[in-house]
Amino acid sequence: MSRIVYVNGRYLPYAAAAVHVEDRGFQFADAVYEVCEVKDGALIDESRHLARLERSLGAVGMGLPMTLAALRHVLGETLRRNRVRFGTLYLQVSRGAAPRDFTFPGPDVSQTVVVIARHGTPGRIAAQASIGIAVKSVPDIRWGRSDIKSVMLLPACLAKAEARAAGAREAWLVDEQGFVTEGASSNAWIVDGAGRIITHPVDHAILAGVTRATVIDVIARSGLTLIERCFTLREAFLAQEAFITSASNTVMPVVRIDDHTIGSGAPGRLSMELRRRFHEFAENGANPRRS
Ligand code: PMP
Repeated sequence: MSRIVYVNGRYLPYAAAAVHVEDRGFQFADAVYEVCEVKDGALIDESRHLARLERSLGAVGMGLPMTLAALRHVLGETLRRNRVRFGTLYLQVSRGAAPRDFTFPGPDVSQTVVVIARHGTPGRIAAQASIGIAVKSVPDIRWGRSDIKSVMLLPACLAKAEARAAGAREAWLVDEQGFVTEGASSNAWIVDGAGRIITHPVDHAILAGVTRATVIDVIARSGLTLIERCFTLREAFLAQEAFITSASNTVMPVVRIDDHTIGSGAPGRLSMELRRRFHEFAENGANPRRS
């Protein structure tokens, strides 16, 4: 079956799908995006992803390219046309294509919208979670607005490359004060010796992960203790457990940070419990969020 990509109102074969060479996403990273998990053919936490999209767009002076209802339709239709049951859905909105100029184009230039559905292999992620991942610390060299989900991802690519070269799957970004802000494409969490779950507070230094928000719901309903505060890399080395969260991994245990084994070196009990319970609390097509 050929893959179909949504581009500016059309559903096109993968090989034919393209945007203009002067798209501002391409020239200036003047674009924001979302990645949602797809499970059993449904988008997970769609409402939270769309709310964050709207927020990111607003933060860079853009609005939604179409109504929320239309956008939901396009996302669902892209999934349906690709028959994705498990995987991810990528949505990007740029300020559009215009002759290269730092100044924003006028209202006559319409935004570029791209939606790509990707088949995943849930078994592979589950197998990885059963052994956990290693992470490598690298300096956080990103800009001051990491809360905006912009496509300006070169620092994240460089961090991941450094992690991969060291045999790690994710990079943990460390700020100038020695605090772990987040992963290159995930939020970072530790569990201290008293079983308290600790993660960086939501501010301009991190992306407010959708998975993070849902994991916080799981924590609250499971009687566990959450502390939203900065933690140092040194604290992380000594943690009882560590994990990352992202839409494509949900909860992924971390068993090594740099040269330090975390806990027993196997995925932690709380990390695995949060992973196991995650979808009970996430919104999906058949299970709208109870709020
Ligand atoms: N932080 C960064 C920098 C990310 O790129 C991501 C993944 N997009 C996350 C956190 C996790 O966010 P989410 O749970 O919404 O996937």
